[in-house]
Amino acid sequence: MSLAKRRGFVFQSSEIYGGLGSVWDYGPLGVELKKNIKERWWRSMVHERHDIEGLDAAILMHPKVWEASGHVSGFTDPLVDCKQCKNRFRADDPRIKGTPGQPDAQCPVCGSKGTLTAPRQFNLMFKTFMGPVEDQAAVIYMRPETAQGIYVNYLNVQQSSRQKIPFGIAQVGKAFRNEITPGNFIFRTREFEQMEMQFFVKPGSETEWFEFWRTERMNWVKGLGIREEKLRWHQHGPDELAHYAKDAYDIQYEFPFGWNEFEGIHNRTDFDLSNHQKHAGKKLEYLDPKTNEKFLPYVVETSAGADRTTLVVLCDAYREEEVRGEEAAEGGEQRVVLKLKPSLAPLKAAVFPLVNKEGMPELAHRIHDDLRRHFNVFFDDGGSIGRRYRRQDEAGTPYGVTIDGQSTQDQTVTVRDRDTLKQDRVATGKLVEYLTQKLAG
Ligand code: ATP
Repeated sequence: MSLAKRRGFVFQSSEIYGGLGSVWDYGPLGVELKKNIKERWWRSMVHERHDIEGLDAAILMHPKVWEASGHVSGFTDPLVDCKQCKNRFRADDPRIKGTPGQPDAQCPVCGSKGTLTAPRQFNLMFKTFMGPVEDQAAVIYMRPETAQGIYVNYLNVQQSSRQKIPFGIAQVGKAFRNEITPGNFIFRTREFEQMEMQFFVKPGSETEWFEFWRTERMNWVKGLGIREEKLRWHQHGPDELAHYAKDAYDIQYEFPFGWNEFEGIHNRTDFDLSNHQKHAGKKLEYLDPKTNEKFLPYVVETSAGADRTTLVVLCDAYREEEVRGEEAAEGGEQRVVLKLKPSLAPLKAAVFPLVNKEGMPELAHRIHDDLRRHFNVFFDDGGSIGRRYRRQDEAGTPYGVTIDGQSTQDQTVTVRDRDTLKQDRVATGKLVEYLTQKLAG
């Protein structure tokens, strides 16, 4: 967390006012990292597939959507209040001793006995009002998931893009949940982004597609460069399944605070479409052009959090290690380095004039201007070269381009590799080609 702040990945929201609980802002490097992850997802889910279309539905939706989806009645956590200290807890908070609502129950904060109320359901959706009158009829919700925007549009998308079942719709966008036990940095936040894809299939083929998407998604996650021993599957037991799901698997990562999910693959059956059909009073059946058969599709969903995936990538890349050899002071030196996959790194290269004289800064600026037409590149002429390397190690910048005395003579520069610390001498005219090759994948 301290590196994330120091290097400009993530800041606390409204920090000068003391922060806002579990809401975070992405700084200059964080916005690039998260964008690279979202773009990689979009490329693999939409551009590289003929059977998935993109969508960007609005955050605000007709309030009946959330009645149909089950979120008004079912998207709740049971909570208890302490009448003494006014704190609120999840009913299953392990710190609570005794049974809430009974005289034996003890408040985990103030220690009073018999002051905890019986559990009451608390809805996780944020409410607001639409229009000038703040009454019950004007209540609308901030979407708690992006999926519903896809369901209510599925026939629009299918017909306008002339897709045939099986096909999918993908969307990246904000979702909001008034989480009661938020925390762990950007792991659980009240405002977050989801990368969701709903795949519409013929009933009876959903198990096959479920397995297909489980394999695809795990491969994609591995493609982010995450260490495989830090990844595992977790199948939901009957008590964990969401109100809409028949079967669900999470992809979990071993975070510093334990194994936790960051993506879910869900078999949602026709739960959502059949409920929308009922509540909206509109037929949502698909007409198979070959067989003339009409049916309501089943849905296999892949649902990933963009922020949680960013946290996975950051945690997995973070290393503290000993540097030896030329770059280190006598006897070795500690460094913090983000070993991000180069294609995900916010900055692809940094340009360093070794000293601020003898024509080096001018040449460095020319190289920087040339490179930044192709990549996101940083220029740094402040402090010793060792200090500049360390700053870029912490930013996860994979390549350091140093302009030295030889550069002004023969138009070559050194390119330092963040992970191996090896240096190549490269002709300035070949630099774009050299980096393009290294950054692929
Ligand atoms: P959890 O059990 O952790 O609350 P969930 O099972 O409710 O998550 P889903 O509804 O399946 O999560 O949402 C899919 C994905 O959206 C999650 O895997 C996660 O990456 C992301 N996500 C859900 N809630 C949050 C949140 N409060 N903050 C950040 N990301 C979230």
